[in-house]
Amino acid sequence: MTAVENSTLMRLKVADRLPTPKGVALEVINLTQREDVSNHEIARMVSADPALSARVLKAANVLLSNPSRPIATVTDAVTVLGARALRQLVLGIALIVDYRNGPCKQFDYQNFWAHSLLTGIAAKHLVARARLGVPEEIFVLGLLGSIGRLALATAFPDEYGKLMARVGEMPLDELHRQEQDQLGCDEAELSSAILADMSFPKVFQTLAHDYLLPENSSLVEGSREWRLMHLLHVASQLADACLSGPDARGRLVAKLRLSAARVAVEGDQLVEIGDACIQDWLDWLELLGMKMMHIPPFGEMLSQPDVPDVAVDVPQWIDVGRDHYKMRVLVVEDDRAMLVLLEAMLKAAGHEVLTARNGAEALQVVEAQRPQLVITGWNLPVMDGVTLCRKLRESPERRDVYVFILTGKETADSLVEAFEAGADDYLVKPVSQRVFFARLRAAQRVVQLQEELAYDREQLLRFSRDLAASNERLQRLALTDVLTELPNRRSAVERLEQEWARAQRGERMLSCMMVDIDHFKAINDKLGHQAGDEVLKSVAQALRHSARTQDLVCRYGGEEFVVICPDTDLKAAAQCAERLRQKVSELDHRGRGFALTISVGVAERSSDMGSVDALLARADACLYAAKEAGRNRVVVAK
Ligand code: GH3
Ligand code: MG
Ligand code: MG
Repeated sequence: MTAVENSTLMRLKVADRLPTPKGVALEVINLTQREDVSNHEIARMVSADPALSARVLKAANVLLSNPSRPIATVTDAVTVLGARALRQLVLGIALIVDYRNGPCKQFDYQNFWAHSLLTGIAAKHLVARARLGVPEEIFVLGLLGSIGRLALATAFPDEYGKLMARVGEMPLDELHRQEQDQLGCDEAELSSAILADMSFPKVFQTLAHDYLLPENSSLVEGSREWRLMHLLHVASQLADACLSGPDARGRLVAKLRLSAARVAVEGDQLVEIGDACIQDWLDWLELLGMKMMHIPPFGEMLSQPDVPDVAVDVPQWIDVGRDHYKMRVLVVEDDRAMLVLLEAMLKAAGHEVLTARNGAEALQVVEAQRPQLVITGWNLPVMDGVTLCRKLRESPERRDVYVFILTGKETADSLVEAFEAGADDYLVKPVSQRVFFARLRAAQRVVQLQEELAYDREQLLRFSRDLAASNERLQRLALTDVLTELPNRRSAVERLEQEWARAQRGERMLSCMMVDIDHFKAINDKLGHQAGDEVLKSVAQALRHSARTQDLVCRYGGEEFVVICPDTDLKAAAQCAERLRQKVSELDHRGRGFALTISVGVAERSSDMGSVDALLARADACLYAAKEAGRNRVVVAK
């Protein structure tokens, strides 16, 4: 909307019902708008009104607050402030002086100016701190930023008065809607239009229009104008908190804290700025001959033990849809307001929130609760955000966690430092909600991908582990005899081949035995096949326990066994065989009505043997001989 387009403004202008400076002030303002005018001429014009010049002088001193070099003359004031700032200042002063009372009974003119002044002062301090603009100009913008309200009260005393009587706790956007309906325009539009009419820069017009409801602004997020708007918003909230009654103060202070945290003014800084503002403000009240008011020291207001948490306005457009992916987010912040703000935004976006007050605490939470995203402030007590980030990256199990570093400083150096410490992303205060949520979604995608990848990897790992285990089991099965759990024939042959190869290389000797249970068929016949199996098992066990550790007892088939004796000559093998025979014969089966014996053939590898088969054949021949000779005996190869 421009001034010309707004018919309400036009009507008011024509009817001369808008707040305008008069007399000398008006002339000064007109003069300063000319290009060719000298500072001296402006000073002379200001001096034509002694009251105005006294105020301009004092105001210049208060604004510039340089006690070592006070401004003594109006000419100095013009020189130091510049024509533009001076014009704005004169405008502000003139309006305050001329409009400290008015026709609208429900409108508190004193309070309006007290609030506007404090907003201007706070805006000046905030902007100076953030180095975002010319503080003296921002002061006037803060001072006149809600001039539309005064205009409504002045131009429509009855209608606006009725509206004011009902305003109570009405949300601001609702009030604006009713102003539109009943008066043809709202205060924000009117403020902006009046500033346009007074030749304020375009940016100021936009800021005046947007700063009361910054979330509705279409200013580019993160731009200088956008940040100025947020500072102005904080400034007006500071004024709200200071000038409210004690009942509403707790809630307003909490709101202020949140918005201040959003523009990177935290804890003690807010107290510092607040106290400076109150001091300046008292100077201004005195300078303008306004009623002095009492405001408690700022620290006292903020130190109310537990300021109730205010509902953080979280935009409606956050979509926690069906495909929403809920993250466990750890917020690391020592500033309570920032913590509350981030927590509210994250919860609104459907995430689970954990909190920690510093880096060291954060590491413990990470260890215990495994968040997927860590949002950490930079300056923290005990351990700062960058160190936390470095520590996380050093830990093999934790280094995958996604990390945002949140900071008030946006220099190339700090950006590089954050990324070098391993941050994934970097958020600069003021935190724009839209940008924050956009980045949150990006983080969410990465976290989700990572988790899916980890899941796939784990599945793959488990699968390959299962595969390896079942392979091993299969292999064991393939080489093991199920009944006796001894290595089977295949295993026996494999092992024999290995030992054969070694023996062939001259590394060691090799002997082997063939063992066969005597009259086993008769046992089966007498006791049944199952009892036969039990007997087989007990013989297998006896053989295994009686053989030397280095010997390998295998089931070769039916009721036959092979014992492989590495590093053993024929004589030693024969002794072993005799011991085995002895042990088996001692197995007490007499109670069951039969004696259990084995026959054993023993052979040693010799150089004339071509292969394992020859060795086995020789042992087998000996076994046959043992059977022939009457069983229950050992026959050793010649
Ligand atoms: P010898 O003293 O001449 O060796 O007489 P034997 O009866 O032991 O010999 P034979 O070869 O005539 O009989 C072996 C028997 O062993 C035949 C078969 O039924 C039995 N047998 C082979 N494998 C098993 C088995 O796994 N379980 C049972 N219960 N019996 C088996
Ligand atoms: Mg037999
Ligand atoms: Mg047999």
